[in-house]
Amino acid sequence: MFLDIYSFTKESNNLSLDKVFAVLCTSGCTLRCTNCGKPEIQKFGNKNTDEKTIIDFIKKSKNKNICITGGDPLEQPDLIDFLMMLRMAGAYIRLDTVGTYPEKLKKIIDSGYVDYISMNIKTSRERYYQIIDKNINLSDIDKSIDIIKSSEIEYEFSTVVVKELHDEKVIADIGKWLDGAKRYYINQYNRNNKFTQYTMEELSKFYEILKPHIEQIGIRWFS
Ligand code: SF4
Repeated sequence: MFLDIYSFTKESNNLSLDKVFAVLCTSGCTLRCTNCGKPEIQKFGNKNTDEKTIIDFIKKSKNKNICITGGDPLEQPDLIDFLMMLRMAGAYIRLDTVGTYPEKLKKIIDSGYVDYISMNIKTSRERYYQIIDKNINLSDIDKSIDIIKSSEIEYEFSTVVVKELHDEKVIADIGKWLDGAKRYYINQYNRNNKFTQYTMEELSKFYEILKPHIEQIGIRWFS
């Protein structure tokens, strides 16, 4: 069993997780976003922790919450075996994905090894190719959205919004794309480099735009 593990944090209070989790970040991401904050993570070959260390940590830890993020963890060929071992160690597992492997995602959900799926939505469907690699098939992302929405698993969709990429039309189009979804988070951009943050008041307008389409909408404000 092999996972290309970019980093492992034993305890993270990252607000997007809503509770304390250990966080395992894997290498590899096919989306190759033009605005990627960690481009080094897109390629494999960054392994610096072994799988056994993580399984042993979860076995011994009182806090069994683990978030597996990336990159896209679904790029890891042995992910399902690893999830099974984490499950046997008693883990509560949150899995992040960008949605380019729908068949694998379905298999994972059906396995019952994962408790929560978080799918990152970059922008509206119409604008995806402004951000991601043009070789990605958008119908895979459509399928992943449908698989998640029609499953019984707890889930969320989320988007990090910035002024340069997400206006009211984009948010309205995301709402229509995800129509009928249970949960969606608008995540504030919290890195002070290339992009401009929205204010809380501006993000609240997005909430109103999304309301007709999504059952539960949250705004994650990181100040
Ligand atoms: S999905 Fe995330 S990790 Fe992957 S390329 Fe885009 S920003 Fe980078």
